[in-house]
Amino acid sequence: MIIGNAATQRGLQQHNLYSDLVVVGGGLSGTCCAITAARAGIKVVLVQDRPVLGGNASSEVRLWVLGATSHMGNNNRWAREGGVIDEILVENLYRNPEGNALIFDTILLEKVHLESNITLLLNTSVFEIEKKENNISAVKGYCSQNQTHYILHAPLFCDASGDGVVAFQSGAAFRMGAESAEEFGEKFAPTAEYGELLGHSIYFYSKDTGKPVRFIPPSFALKDITQIPRYRQFNTKDFGPWLWWLEYGGRLDTIQDSEKIKWELWKVVYGVWDHIKNSGQFPEAENLTLEWVGHIPGKRESRRFEGDYMLIQQDIIEQREHYDAVSFGGWSIDLHPADGVFSEKPGCNQWHSKGVYQIPYRCLYSKNVDNLFLAGRLISSSHVAFGSSRVMATCAHVGQVVGMAAKLCIQKELLPRTLSAHDHIGILQQELLTTGHHIPTLALSVGLDLLKLASIKTSSDLVLHELPPNGPMLPMVHAVAQMLPLKKGKLPSITAWVEAVQDTVLTVQFRTSSKPQNHTPDVVLSEQKISLKKGKQEINLNFEREMPEAAYAFVCFLKNEDISLQYSNHRVTGLISVFNKTNPAVSNYGKQDPKDDIGVEGFEFWTPQRRPNGLNIAMKISGGIDLFGAENLSNGVQRPTMQPNAWVADFADVNPSISLHWNEKKTIQSIELFFDTDFDHPLESVLLTHPETVIPFCVRNYKILDEGGDLIQEIRDNYQTINRIEFAEAIECSALTFEFEHPDELIPAAVFQLIVK
Ligand SMILES: Cc1cc2nc3c(=O)[nH]c(=O)nc-3n(C[C@H](O)[C@H](O)[C@H](O)COP(=O)(O)OP(=O)(O)OC[C@H]3O[C@@H](n4cnc5c(N)ncnc54)[C@H](O)[C@@H]3O)c2cc1C
Repeated sequence: MIIGNAATQRGLQQHNLYSDLVVVGGGLSGTCCAITAARAGIKVVLVQDRPVLGGNASSEVRLWVLGATSHMGNNNRWAREGGVIDEILVENLYRNPEGNALIFDTILLEKVHLESNITLLLNTSVFEIEKKENNISAVKGYCSQNQTHYILHAPLFCDASGDGVVAFQSGAAFRMGAESAEEFGEKFAPTAEYGELLGHSIYFYSKDTGKPVRFIPPSFALKDITQIPRYRQFNTKDFGPWLWWLEYGGRLDTIQDSEKIKWELWKVVYGVWDHIKNSGQFPEAENLTLEWVGHIPGKRESRRFEGDYMLIQQDIIEQREHYDAVSFGGWSIDLHPADGVFSEKPGCNQWHSKGVYQIPYRCLYSKNVDNLFLAGRLISSSHVAFGSSRVMATCAHVGQVVGMAAKLCIQKELLPRTLSAHDHIGILQQELLTTGHHIPTLALSVGLDLLKLASIKTSSDLVLHELPPNGPMLPMVHAVAQMLPLKKGKLPSITAWVEAVQDTVLTVQFRTSSKPQNHTPDVVLSEQKISLKKGKQEINLNFEREMPEAAYAFVCFLKNEDISLQYSNHRVTGLISVFNKTNPAVSNYGKQDPKDDIGVEGFEFWTPQRRPNGLNIAMKISGGIDLFGAENLSNGVQRPTMQPNAWVADFADVNPSISLHWNEKKTIQSIELFFDTDFDHPLESVLLTHPETVIPFCVRNYKILDEGGDLIQEIRDNYQTINRIEFAEAIECSALTFEFEHPDELIPAAVFQLIVK
């Protein structure tokens, strides 16, 4: 028994914790930062003021995680972020294809819980900092659940708190609001009338109880729904993130007025629900009840802190290259009117770039606080560029950079800024690429020595002569293109199959992208018009032009509703069909066509369909495409970019395998295989359901054998992108054979990269 005798005063308990890195904020950025740092070998304290991790992606707010793939609505092919965030999203697909936000919470908690290098402090709010000269020496947090004060000491700190609670108090230079167009020459910079800050939102979920349910609104609910100019858009189907435009607060201080903004949003949400339940306009709502309403708002924008570089509109639109590129973005520049839900204007103003853009390392640390990293939405970007870099998969990817940078700083006794020097940055880039992290235009070059020393034999290499005509015939209600990776030089002749309902003319164009790393078909290399007779027929396409350089080409069949096109059920890593169609959810109306001079480009959108749709167009390709060989295993690129970058077995190969032979015995400690989990497929984490739990391209079963044919390792039922096999005791061998099973009889086995160390 504890007896507390009367005392004049008592203090709460206090713990001092020492680590290499303190990460403040357990949103996706802070979480991925902490995991990356911990796996790289440094001690991390991750402090999160909420009971769960994930920030806006958590069950407390319930936003779906998006990034450069943009709901599959833009031209950024194979652009899902790599590394820890990919592992998390692929795991979520496997366990939670229905998008239950509570399950997503458990995945994040589990990932952090598994890392022995992370001390996780949940329900702990950081409220103060200590500084010595230009360095933060400690931050202080308080957990009301265990009535404990924490003093967290470390040589390095990362502010991933969204609002910048550490960076602000440490005196880091910051901005809040929008830059003028003149400051950086950003033509899309908004006027004060449009608004200079994005507001908060609160979501709700509803559910059908199977019997009538009444709703009596709280007294604070909005009474007059017509105060919301777009109130006619409400219906009983859209809830959760579909109602992202229930936004408010862009004209207030989104930090200091946050509680006030929350009450206004509750007023809106309960007013909307009152409208749905009690206006009489939605009889189908009779059995619906409110299942959940957010208790905290999702925050979009507040402070942005200044690094040595500030990302601006032109970096995104012109896809400027940076020596210190460490991450990438690809969401549209997405600004909202500051009046939010009460605005007469459209809820957002989104403009896409023709491809993904690089994010430089110099945006990820404070320009005036020496040991402070920045991660998440508060990184050094202008208001306009923030409009794109703020989405969660991008924030998570940026967090991974900070995690790895912190490890290098500890290892080499550097400060964040010193790591940006030319002679250090390459090491950071390479260490990131080793973890599956993607940096556009960069390739992994370390850790491949053993592979490069080996003579590599494969049981077969796919030479793509044909996508057999074994799929459906589908009418060309949109223009459709088959993307094909090609070498520089003469375009191949193509045979395809069509059916016309009457005599007509089919127009086919061979296109490519003005930048070889892009997948926007903005250059027409050649065009052919073919007269078709009514009925089924084979067509032959011969183009006299050349591919200017190795890249993806687009065989575009322009829209003609009198024609059906033959598809194939065969799917291959790095091949995809795309359609010139719309996706209003991400402001894709088939073509981006800026009317004003706002510094963005006009171009067409050619986007894929989600499975089970999205079949390849059946075709024969003269000479075949021989870009799926074993040399891809060591080219250092772990996803399709300008080329497929994968070894792919032949469809007919019944026993696909890769063998590595060395002249002498090698000591092998670990093996890593990078499989195809379709980086083109966005993995929205909540609400949206996915048609599969395992990406169909992914190798599930394989064996590793030594030179004597003895089994070293067998893996079954894999679904992850990266398989790391760490041997408790190093093995000695002069050969390794990898025997794969095809993921499906219509999908050949594929491997992007093999690392043997
Ligand atoms: C309504 C809305 C819709 C959006 N739509 C999308 C979308 O569809 N897809 C998408 O990807 N992005 C979307 N975004 C953007 C995205 O959610 C944010 O930009 C992103 O969450 C920022 O990530 P972060 O890790 O920096 O911050 P957060 O996700 O906000 O995480 C920061 C964490 O730090 C914690 N924290 C704050 N202060 C402290 C403190 N003092 N001590 C300890 N912890 C603290 C917070 O509780 C929070 O959990 C949307 C944003 C909003 C608000």
